[in-house]
Amino acid sequence: MTCLEAQSNIMDFIEKKLPDDKAGDFVRHMRRCKTCSEELEIYYTMIVGMHQLDKGRELSSNFKQDLNDELAGIERKIKRSKRFRLSTFSVCLLVALFGIFFLYENTLKRVYDAEQRVIKESQGSSYFYDYFGDVINITKEDEDLFVRYAKKEHVTELTNFQRIHIYHLQHDKAKEGAPEDE
Ligand SMILES: [Zn+2]
Repeated sequence: MTCLEAQSNIMDFIEKKLPDDKAGDFVRHMRRCKTCSEELEIYYTMIVGMHQLDKGRELSSNFKQDLNDELAGIERKIKRSKRFRLSTFSVCLLVALFGIFFLYENTLKRVYDAEQRVIKESQGSSYFYDYFGDVINITKEDEDLFVRYAKKEHVTELTNFQRIHIYHLQHDKAKEGAPEDE
């Protein structure tokens, strides 16, 4: 703010009509510029003094102090609003960071799931027979059952879980039906 601008704002300042966006620059200029601050003090003393007389109030004993208090008040207000803006900004930033983090986590999980799915699908029946063929005795009958089940479910390939489930269903049934060995 130039001296000319600052001085043209003096009246508005005294009448407390200075808009917030100008107040900061105005106070900063007055703190730095001796010429303008002297001018401000003269006008302030004159006009505020006149108002006080007009309203029948007691005349201030220290206009310089009053003026300084008013300038300091504006400085405090600006500092507070800056702090508020900063804290609002921090909160927004934090929310954004959390959002990105969760999005990232979610994406990782999806990629992992997709990979697992591809691995499982590619393993298919050879995986099943490699791993379970030795443990459970899968007969031709069981395999026919798998094929029938797949046809019924309209899938080309059963999951390993489904195969084991069918196997157990079939063999538990057989066990129940068979006479127990003594
Ligand atoms: Zn100036």
